[in-house]
Order: sequence, then structure tokens, then C-alpha cells
Amino acid sequence: MMTAPYALAAAVPPQALPAPPSPAALPAWHSLLEERWQQRLNTLTELALAYHDAAESRGGRPADTAEAARLQRLLRKATAARRALGETEDALARLSDGSFGRCEQCSQPIPTTDLLAEPEARYCPGCVAGSWVALAG
Ligand SMILES: [Zn+2]
Repeated sequence: MMTAPYALAAAVPPQALPAPPSPAALPAWHSLLEERWQQRLNTLTELALAYHDAAESRGGRPADTAEAARLQRLLRKATAARRALGETEDALARLSDGSFGRCEQCSQPIPTTDLLAEPEARYCPGCVAGSWVALAG
């Protein structure tokens, strides 16, 4: 009697099952993620400084509508940049604990092309598609 994973492996041609990043490739992924982390940290720092400057330049005056909208935009961008930085930090942590490149939901390897497009990816294309279907339903 075959268990489910073996049945799946038998049903899917081997070339369709991507390999997780090999140990030899991990240093390259690490440099890539470190680079992205540095870029994202720079973006966050610039946005935080821009927000601070914009808030300071009012000199205690209440913000007019345009200023308030600009501050809101900067704050939203800074929040998104902080989240992006955190995602890169999580990917670096997965690289350290050996779970990098595997789907957090089904444990299947995430295709290298997907990881190259977004090294912070947590889920395989199948689980991402499934979650959209679940959201739509
Ligand atoms: Zn998955």
C-alpha cells in the first residue's frame, strides 16, 4: 500500500518536482538575501528620515490637508518597507534553520525561478493558488 507522498511522486513526472536549494547554493542565497536586506534597510531609513523631516518642518503648526496626506503616504511606505525588511529577515532565518526554499504549508520545494523572483517566498505556487481560491470562495 502506497502512502500519499509516494502516490504523488508517482503521479507527477520527476522533472516537475523542483529540488530545494542545494547546500552548495546556500552561500549564494545568503549573499543575495543580505544584499536585499541592506537595500530594504536603506529604503526604510530614507523613508523614516523623510517622514521625520516632513513632520519637523511643520514647526508645531497643524498640518494642512496636503501635508497630512503626504505624511500619511510616507508613513504607509515606511510601514510597507518595515514589513519587507522583516520578510527578508525571516528568509535569512529560514536559511539558517534549513527550511529555506520549502513551502511552509505543504513542505514541497519552491521552484528556483520563483525564489529568484522573490527569495522571501514562503509558499509554493500550488499553495498560493489554493489560498486565492479559498479567499475567493
Ligand atoms: Zn505548498
